[in-house]
Amino acid sequence: MRRLSELAGLFDVAVIGGGIIGAGIARDAARRGLRVALLEKADYGSGTTAGSTRLIHGGLRYLEMLDFRLVRMDLREREILLRVAPHLVRPLRFLLPFYGEGMHYRVKMRVGLALYDLLSFDKSLPSRAFFGAEQLAEMEPELRREGLRGAAAYYDAQVDSPERLTLENVLDARGHGAAALNYAEVTGAMVRGGRVAGVRVRDVLEGGECEVRARLVVNATGPWLDRVAARLGPHPRPWLRTTKGIHVACDPVNRNAFAVRSPVDGRLFFVIPWLGYSWVGTTDTDFEDEPSRAKAEAEDVRYLIESAAYYFPALRGARVYWTNAGVRALVRKPGSASSVTRSHRIVADEAGVISVVGGKITGYRAIAEQVTDLVCRLLGQRRRSDTAEAPLPGGRERCGQGYLEAIYGCRAREVRELAEREPELGRPLDPEYPDLAAQVVFSVRHEQCMRVADFMLRRSLLGFRPDQGARAVAAVAEWMARELGWTAGRKEEEIRAYIERTREVKP
Ligand SMILES: Cc1cc2nc3c(=O)[nH]c(=O)nc-3n(C[C@H](O)[C@H](O)[C@H](O)COP(=O)(O)OP(=O)(O)OC[C@H]3O[C@@H](n4cnc5c(N)ncnc54)[C@H](O)[C@@H]3O)c2cc1C
Repeated sequence: MRRLSELAGLFDVAVIGGGIIGAGIARDAARRGLRVALLEKADYGSGTTAGSTRLIHGGLRYLEMLDFRLVRMDLREREILLRVAPHLVRPLRFLLPFYGEGMHYRVKMRVGLALYDLLSFDKSLPSRAFFGAEQLAEMEPELRREGLRGAAAYYDAQVDSPERLTLENVLDARGHGAAALNYAEVTGAMVRGGRVAGVRVRDVLEGGECEVRARLVVNATGPWLDRVAARLGPHPRPWLRTTKGIHVACDPVNRNAFAVRSPVDGRLFFVIPWLGYSWVGTTDTDFEDEPSRAKAEAEDVRYLIESAAYYFPALRGARVYWTNAGVRALVRKPGSASSVTRSHRIVADEAGVISVVGGKITGYRAIAEQVTDLVCRLLGQRRRSDTAEAPLPGGRERCGQGYLEAIYGCRAREVRELAEREPELGRPLDPEYPDLAAQVVFSVRHEQCMRVADFMLRRSLLGFRPDQGARAVAAVAEWMARELGWTAGRKEEEIRAYIERTREVKP
């Protein structure tokens, strides 16, 4: 019950779900002075947020769907995120190669890119450009040359770790007084006179349950939305259409990002440079099972490699190090999965539950602002959001560009100070990696790191190395055991669970 004691008292709002959207809502609401509880059943950012392509993008594809409002909102948000989280979000150049496509395609592309520039009239990123075949061959030596005519270029942005983007929202929410717990699952609602008066919460790690009293409840559980809604009260109709998307991390073949059509079925997909890989994705197939069971099937991997190898023949023999799967939560509508809008909906019911349906990482801050505006209105409060201007914790001061800075931003200084104060923490976790023992201890003391996988995948980038950080797992577990007082059995169990996970994502 030690952890649950943080949830005592009456909250203005209980936010269920610590993905990027729930974390963003908790941050905005806490910064406006509301009493906030954020409840996440696993680790922050471990759901769909971790299964994404990791782009902060308007989405050229959504222009095709004529979703101008979504594209404009996301292009505005892209600019805001580049400003408030410069250590995590950075510009990325995309190329759209032309082969023998007809005139119609080329005109469509030019109009699309012109519109993209128009809709991001206030951007800091460069505008569209065009390259000839020879120049392109120099820029991208592995790109298939046969029939290559040239390419159009445009800019979007990339976030190496949406997991840490989520965490920084949680840290800021906590800094402004929010109670935030990971491994805290909402199991039901407390109902008084037809209204939800709070939620019941189970501590997944230590056991024990408690009731969390709240005047309003926000359901921000992404692909779990319908399942959680059914726990909160009658929920006759599903709101979501859930689809699975996978990615593969391959030997690097490209320097710029590519948005290309699959020769297999004509779908748009990406080949992106990410942490030294070519990161290829994604698929889009209906998936109705429990979201945490989504995984890349051999057939999904084959489809992506075959599609990408059409443009980068070297991929045919390249190594696929590991795979990743996520489940999209789309507003339920008929049609092919790829044609369903990525716009979100916010629905408030009479019982005092606000549900966030759909959305993208790119738009998370704006969605959080809209939800918090609604919360304030329902509570009779008039407080404005400041998250479009206020930097996230790691972006508060300018900092250099070292390895630690790319993870923590200006908070890297705190990690270094810890390593100086306790010199044995200044040692690397393994001679092969730059990661320090201080990072593990820092993440336990200051970033709610509770499990080995939390550190490997969501506090550091170790889990994204070709060996998924296997060489450092024992050291990470040892440092965590010392900090958290784990028994030898618990430490071994943590190592085993992480290693099992690395096997599951092997292609
Ligand atoms: C393949 C793929 C690629 C994508 N690429 C991009 C991209 O490049 N750019 C972009 O902007 N968007 C992208 N998206 C969309 C984006 O990832 C999602 O919109 C976003 O991550 C959703 O965040 P969320 O917080 O709503 O959901 P999640 O991140 O899934 O968070 C929901 C959380 O709720 C928790 N939860 C569930 N049940 C309970 C309970 N009972 N109690 C407590 N907590 C609970 C879960 O554990 C989970 O952490 C992509 C999505 C997919 C699937």
